[in-house]
Amino acid sequence: MSLTDTSTPLSDESRQQVRVDLAAAFRWTARMNMHEGISNHFSYVVADDPCTFLVNPYGKHFSKMRASDLITVDAADRAELDRDDVDQTAWSIHGAIHRAVPEARCIMHVHSKYATALASLRDKTLPAIDQNTARFFERVAIDERYDGMGVGDEATRLATELDGKPIVLMGNHGFMAIAPTVAEAFDEMYFFERAAETYITALSTGRELHVLRDEVARKTARQWEYYASSADRHLAALKEILDEEEPEYSH
Ligand SMILES: [Zn+2]
Ligand SMILES: [Zn+2]
Repeated sequence: MSLTDTSTPLSDESRQQVRVDLAAAFRWTARMNMHEGISNHFSYVVADDPCTFLVNPYGKHFSKMRASDLITVDAADRAELDRDDVDQTAWSIHGAIHRAVPEARCIMHVHSKYATALASLRDKTLPAIDQNTARFFERVAIDERYDGMGVGDEATRLATELDGKPIVLMGNHGFMAIAPTVAEAFDEMYFFERAAETYITALSTGRELHVLRDEVARKTARQWEYYASSADRHLAALKEILDEEEPEYSH
């Protein structure tokens, strides 16, 4: 699940596949109630130029997203901010990271309930207390310097804090999952929210946590990597349901 390079531009067929995969990810995120109004964004670098990325248009609900709705945005061009369909924070945060970290091909950013609760704690570390939390052992970058909506400083800061990690827990804000493919970013996002849910639920009992030893947590995180193909199968399984119940997502 390590980040790979983006030196190869995508074929037309792959670009269309990315659009379909993203639309499926948006709709499933809405079904899981991990969306927030018309906020939040998923982006994907489609060209060899890390400045050109696909993103959801401002104002379109996750649950109604279609492959053809996604817009192409140039992260190097400030004039993009004048566009009616470009969300300022999408351009700023996603643009800054895509520009600075070309291997961060797909970025999913949400304010989901449990991960955001974790982001609001003084100690934002996620202890390994089950398989899902152990998956993220030593794989989360934590941004502790929230200072208002991410339009300037937050964007530049986050780009330097990634350190090759697939998850950035944005303190007092939400989180981002970062991966080379849509399926992998979605899988990381899904499991990080599940892991945070387990942790916050366990904390809420007020009873003492049984935290796994570091060696066990590290071994479990590595074991997750043997299941790398499960991300593709996960998204494929969700698309099978969407193909049946709301096939227009892929149009
Ligand atoms: Zn946000
Ligand atoms: Zn975003």
